[in-house]
Amino acid sequence: MTKATESTETTLNGINASPGICIGKAYLVDPESVSVVKKYTIEPKLVKKEIRRFKTAVTSARKELKAIIAKIPEELRDQTYILEAHLLLHKDKMLYEKSIRLIDEERINAEWALKTSIGSVKERFDRIPDPYLKSRAADIEHVSERIMRQLTGATDVDLTVIDKRVILVAHNLSPAETSQIQVNRVMGFVTDRGGKASHTSIIARTLEIPAVLGLGNATTMIQNDDLIIVDGSEGIVIVNPDEKTLIRYEELNRRYESYKADILRISEAPAVSTDGRHFKIMGNIELPEEVVGVRDHGGDGIGLFRTEFLYLSRNNFPEETELFNQYREIVELMAPGPVTIRTLDINGDKEISSLPALQEANPALGLRAIRFCLKKPKIFKTQIRAILRAAAFGNVRLLLPMISGCEEIQQSKRIIEQAAASLEKDGLPHKADIEIGAMIEIPSAAIMADELAKIVDFLSIGTNDLVQYALAIDRGNRFVAYLYNPLHPAVIRMIAQTVDGAKKNGKKIFMCGEMAADPINIPFLMALGIDELSMSPQSIPEVKNLIRKIDSREAEKLLPGILSATSASEIQNLIIERYGDILKESLSD
Ligand code: PEP
Ligand code: MG
Repeated sequence: MTKATESTETTLNGINASPGICIGKAYLVDPESVSVVKKYTIEPKLVKKEIRRFKTAVTSARKELKAIIAKIPEELRDQTYILEAHLLLHKDKMLYEKSIRLIDEERINAEWALKTSIGSVKERFDRIPDPYLKSRAADIEHVSERIMRQLTGATDVDLTVIDKRVILVAHNLSPAETSQIQVNRVMGFVTDRGGKASHTSIIARTLEIPAVLGLGNATTMIQNDDLIIVDGSEGIVIVNPDEKTLIRYEELNRRYESYKADILRISEAPAVSTDGRHFKIMGNIELPEEVVGVRDHGGDGIGLFRTEFLYLSRNNFPEETELFNQYREIVELMAPGPVTIRTLDINGDKEISSLPALQEANPALGLRAIRFCLKKPKIFKTQIRAILRAAAFGNVRLLLPMISGCEEIQQSKRIIEQAAASLEKDGLPHKADIEIGAMIEIPSAAIMADELAKIVDFLSIGTNDLVQYALAIDRGNRFVAYLYNPLHPAVIRMIAQTVDGAKKNGKKIFMCGEMAADPINIPFLMALGIDELSMSPQSIPEVKNLIRKIDSREAEKLLPGILSATSASEIQNLIIERYGDILKESLSD
């Protein structure tokens, strides 16, 4: 009788940071730990010397980072801004100046001073509700680790020495380390730390290698040379898989790779439904560097440029020329495709350092976005002048965020007219008659959509906020995240009402919230006849492919059922019943 060998297969669950599957040997990245730091006091006469030691460590850390930037491989050129931002962070007030002050005032060693100032910066980040900004705390950690290595003499992780095809297993990978990854050697990576919106996962997606982050215990559960399966789409890592699992994942991988190659190959082609309707699929961007990604994934234009990111992490407001140059670069890169520039959407969850914090009890309901801009017409006008000037170089639309009623649009239009008149007077080239749109992200705007549509050229539905405000669910609060569902019947009816309001007035209707990227929602959005769907660039090929398989007139037959449903699950079932087979072929299933 043969004795069955006991399976040692273990499944670990983490965050699905970058989609895809890879199967291979684990390579443990084992940096010398810099986390154990001792505190000691410095004699008064040696304090100056300790400050010098800290400054030298920062200078060396910056030098090291500059050398890494200079060696960045071609395919990651558009991601160097992450590391450039790290360079700036080295001299950040809360990190650099505070550490020096602590050494000076408390006479403590440089390592402890750095650790203390990082602790308070991280605490502030933890209090930010927005998950994207919260995950920026990782950048601070990477910067401090680099300085700490200089102080303690620990060496950096060198990924360029890897000489076989492996999957990296690390406690944490900094963007600088991730940027050293050579895709012909590293199939994918998994880490104990990290979040979905961290720059490490952004780089993994750019490199298009599977990654699972935030596993918590990967470096203790996985040994060097263990066979592992990384499923970056599901956020699963399987250690020492048995044969049956291995065969299943090899088949899944083959199907995934051929599907991805197929949809990318045809991503340039338009998204035309089987009944001949052309839906424009656009990209959402935060930074000029991301335009290339939109183009490479077959995007027809930029449906949402979140301009506030140029205002964050600095202690002054950008000048008109700086904004104009950045907008012009994006507009020229995307031409002849349209670029929808959304005016400043700050405060709420995106506080800027150039202004004292507003201390609002409910920032999401506070002086945010258009409300802030109308209170600060000078800041608003500077941005509008830059937008109108950039419009002379391509196809530009202006989008107003957080509109709650007609007056805000009328007031904004007056400021736009004044900006155009001042440019005329200054003799600066510009285009005054650009399309102006309103974002529909507040229930009052959805209800008034037909009236708003009369005074703008287009409406764009921002479901990320519309769901938050319609269902009273803080979009950054994990305790109520289970209630956050764009297929809630109330949200569905508001969307339908908004589309109706736009169409009745012969105006275009777009969607730029995350809802537009999720395959399950596509049949409904097509049935409504939304002209443009805008999303993060990586989702474009999949959505385009799905649209090409659906008959939008046929999908319209689902509308009465969807619009009279009383729960999100009822709506979901209606869609799956009819389109389940088509949706199953998509990447996310
Ligand atoms: C939205 O609210 O849906 C949106 C697109 O804007 P943001 O995510 O920037 O708030
Ligand atoms: Mg919004």
